Amino acid sequence: DREPRTLREAFLATKRHGSALAIGYRDEHYDYAGLWARTVRLAHALRGEFGIAKGDRVGIAMRNYPEFVFAFGATQLLGAVAVPFNSWLKGPELADLVGEARPKVLFADQERIALAQAFGITAPELIGVRCAAPTPGVTDCASLLTDLSADLDTPDLDPPDAEVLPDDVATILFTSGTTGRPKAAVHTHLNHSASLLNKLIRAVPVTEPEGGGPVEVSPPPRSCKLVTFPFFHIAGLNTLYNTLYAGQSLVLMYKWDAAEAVRLVEAEKVNEVSGPPFVVQTFLAAARTTGRDLSSLRSLGMGSAAAPAHVVEEVRAVLGDTVVPKTGYGMTETTSGVVAISAADFARRPTSVGRPLPTAEVAIMGPDGRLLDSGAEGEVVVRGPQVIQGYEGTGTGAGPLDDSFRDGWFRTGDLGRIDAEGFVYLVGRIKDIVIRGGENINCSEVEVALETHPEVREAAALGAPHPLLGEELVAIVHAPQDSAVTPEDLRAHLAERLAAFKVPARVAIVHRPLPRTASGKIVKRELAGALDLGRL
Ligand code: ATP
Ligand code: MG
Repeated sequence: DREPRTLREAFLATKRHGSALAIGYRDEHYDYAGLWARTVRLAHALRGEFGIAKGDRVGIAMRNYPEFVFAFGATQLLGAVAVPFNSWLKGPELADLVGEARPKVLFADQERIALAQAFGITAPELIGVRCAAPTPGVTDCASLLTDLSADLDTPDLDPPDAEVLPDDVATILFTSGTTGRPKAAVHTHLNHSASLLNKLIRAVPVTEPEGGGPVEVSPPPRSCKLVTFPFFHIAGLNTLYNTLYAGQSLVLMYKWDAAEAVRLVEAEKVNEVSGPPFVVQTFLAAARTTGRDLSSLRSLGMGSAAAPAHVVEEVRAVLGDTVVPKTGYGMTETTSGVVAISAADFARRPTSVGRPLPTAEVAIMGPDGRLLDSGAEGEVVVRGPQVIQGYEGTGTGAGPLDDSFRDGWFRTGDLGRIDAEGFVYLVGRIKDIVIRGGENINCSEVEVALETHPEVREAAALGAPHPLLGEELVAIVHAPQDSAVTPEDLRAHLAERLAAFKVPARVAIVHRPLPRTASGKIVKRELAGALDLGRL
């Protein structure tokens, strides 16, 4: 057995897991045989009924339903290109991205089918998932899974043939759109198999025998994972194929609900929960007061946004020493994490995002393009087999955007430093800078300082237009309903910690969560809009 080089090989390998649980969703449970039957049937249907061949695009616009997994697996068996769309998008946004990607077939759940109809979102073929009623022009996914011709109805159905190579395109994923319009990142099978390999190397215990001989590799431990990242986000998609390749179990949720998550951990004996830091924090808050048995939990993973430094301590306080806190850092363009940290390393360095994974090289680049020594702050750059070749829609097919690569390094747009031991620390985003009268302010630094105040649940610092300074710094803070904290308290708190020019001119306090993207990032554009209108 060698590691898969393509996602087709990864999905073919799931067959061997037979009767182990693959997916749990509400009261539905699918073992690997059931997953295999559905994925393979759907692959045959895509080819036979819709003519999908290698390289054709198949859009997926839905919640984390089991059908997402079947549809994704089917595209990968065919060597087709899966294009997942963010299910949080409003109609015009979805129409825009579907128009850009032009899938031949679009799988869509009931809400997305409704958006497609209301906003004229077109694809040559629409496949409806979990729609209450039949819709004209929409093929029902359930019928594809059941009503196939009898010769396909065998327990050991063979998948369609397809020659899929590591350099073929496997997926197109849109970035979260935190800094602008989402970009269409084009991933090859090689990109994904490098991510899979990183996961395997870290998950599988490897024993070097004394005195030589073959290295012993134990299979990854059985594990059941509660997935809170959406599958259309790279963190969710990684979890999908890493988990299934390893024969582990996925527990899915329709939407994030901390009380429901705690219930699921008990009911499904979940071993790992992962999600954006604010999701993990709400999970901890629910776990703190629950009477449920959470003893199956082994790890709590975070990613996609900065975790507050105290979260490591909180995990220990709420769940004890047997649950390992983890975090990592990566982006859509790197097809998963590029650095990771857990356990004792993380406890000792709660503000680090970790050290590079086996296939990733991470460095810090100065403005002139030179790589900087350890300790110096600059732009985080990455290279290695996980990194995409480029985005789509740049006029050159899958060619790199002009300024996103430099000397073979992908420029992340994040600011950071690497210490002498190789641990990476992030300090903010290059685009998340407010220039106040010529003075640069890193918004992340101000947010971290605000979040050290006990009454601050979340904070966002951003620029507001100013007639003389060009921009001034303002902050929006989410405080608990019963909190009496005032803007002046918070400005005084900051004044003790930061230079005067970094203290926001205005602080608005709200008693509700700040708007977040599906990947857990605060949507500053929305906040800026609310500020303009004086709604805060
Ligand atoms: P866009 O590129 O469209 O503006 P985005 O960068 O938010 O959006 P993603 O690819 O989902 O889209 O996110 C990657 C970014 O998320 C990273 O560049 C980094 O800024 C942030 N990020 C990821 N992990 C962490 C982490 N552990 N701590 C802090 N920030 C993180
Ligand atoms: Mg980005």
